Amino acid sequence: MNISTPNVFPTPEPVVELERLGDAIAELSAHLDAATARVLDLIREFDARGGWNTGFLSCAAWLSWRVGLDRGSARERVRVARALGTLPRLAQALARGELSYSKVRALTRVATAETEERLLAVGRAGTAEHVERIVRGWRRVDRKAEAEEMTRRHRSRALYVYPDEDGMVVIRGRLEPEVGAVVLQALAAARETLHRRADAKVGKHVPAEPGFADVSAETPTMAQQQADALMLVAESVLHHGIDPGAPGERYQVVVHIDAPVLADPDAPGESVLEEGTYVPAETSQRLACDATRVVMRRDPDGHLIEIGARTRTIPPALRRTLQHRDHGCRFPGCGRSFGQGHHIRHWANGGPTTLSNLTLLCRRHHRAVHEEGYQVERRHDGALRFRRPDGRLLSESPALPAVPADPVGMLRARHNAQGLAIDPRTAMPGWLGERFDVGYAIDVLHPLAGSVRTPVEFETRRSRP
Ligand SMILES: [Zn+2]
Ligand SMILES: [Zn+2]
Repeated sequence: MNISTPNVFPTPEPVVELERLGDAIAELSAHLDAATARVLDLIREFDARGGWNTGFLSCAAWLSWRVGLDRGSARERVRVARALGTLPRLAQALARGELSYSKVRALTRVATAETEERLLAVGRAGTAEHVERIVRGWRRVDRKAEAEEMTRRHRSRALYVYPDEDGMVVIRGRLEPEVGAVVLQALAAARETLHRRADAKVGKHVPAEPGFADVSAETPTMAQQQADALMLVAESVLHHGIDPGAPGERYQVVVHIDAPVLADPDAPGESVLEEGTYVPAETSQRLACDATRVVMRRDPDGHLIEIGARTRTIPPALRRTLQHRDHGCRFPGCGRSFGQGHHIRHWANGGPTTLSNLTLLCRRHHRAVHEEGYQVERRHDGALRFRRPDGRLLSESPALPAVPADPVGMLRARHNAQGLAIDPRTAMPGWLGERFDVGYAIDVLHPLAGSVRTPVEFETRRSRP
């Protein structure tokens, strides 16, 4: 028997051959990175112009659907595309094949207009692993600075209430952004209520969209309205007690709708929110699709004669089965895990509340099928079919375009035509194998590293004898 051991040291002939193979890999990779830069340019433009906004939740969701990227990669592609819009030097290095996509991706996580030049140098000099480690350390410094900034902001929160010389009360304060948002929302809600009350007093028709179109001489200024609104907020709190409530209750919406309108949006009848704001019948249909329902019967004069029991349009057990079957939103390319039950044929039109007539849709896509003209039907084989508002089919996952017979040759030819000189050494880092000290590198490079005491500095000191 002849046992041959594999040659550990290749003979001179294969060495040259393998070097050539390695060069080919390096050169083509640089070409691919240059082409990736072009793809990112296109994604940035598509994103900015809202090309994905055709029933998709985001540019990344569209990209995942159209190109077949997994969610994480698609999101990352969009993030990098956006970032490169403000980082011309990094964008150019990628477009020339000088910096790999991996390096650029990592660098865009921390680069700003101010630090781009320095980080580009890091990308050119170091390997992908060096870049990754620099970026990680860099973020630690950033996070530390951010945490300190947040602590400073949180400490500076204050509300001063004091009497002025003429007896008026002065209020002055600083709130954190999210707290401010809640306060603004409460003031806006109170303003709207006061506005409606004022309108009702004058006997005007209540407009669906409260605007201040016909301003009379007595119309209070915005500042005056805010002052009145604050009083209403305070009164309401004292009246109802201080209780923020569970999140679900806070956003409860009550809709009154006449049964004929629910079945046919064109039928005459009422479709209004509790406080009297008109809502389109299509919106009421969506809200009723998966909701708690109370049926009230009225006599011809409109007097209430009977109130039914409160029931769920989709019983809890069926909802659980639906969630189990559909997992999440079934709209092509979505897949969000939490959804609302949608009656493919509305229950108000006699559609049964059965698994075959139900499908899960997220909030966004539930709106798409009720209010934006998207259609969904279940075929005989049980599969769902979605259509765009213009009737065109929306496929689950579209076919990828055909690639030319020699994609590599085409790529080279195109880059040649653009005057791009890409060779096996285009993306070579300048690193010569010397010892790499991340902490020291960040100390030197990061604009804040000197001013913030960081774990990086500490590590650095430990690592230097
Ligand atoms: Zn629905
Ligand atoms: Zn969805």
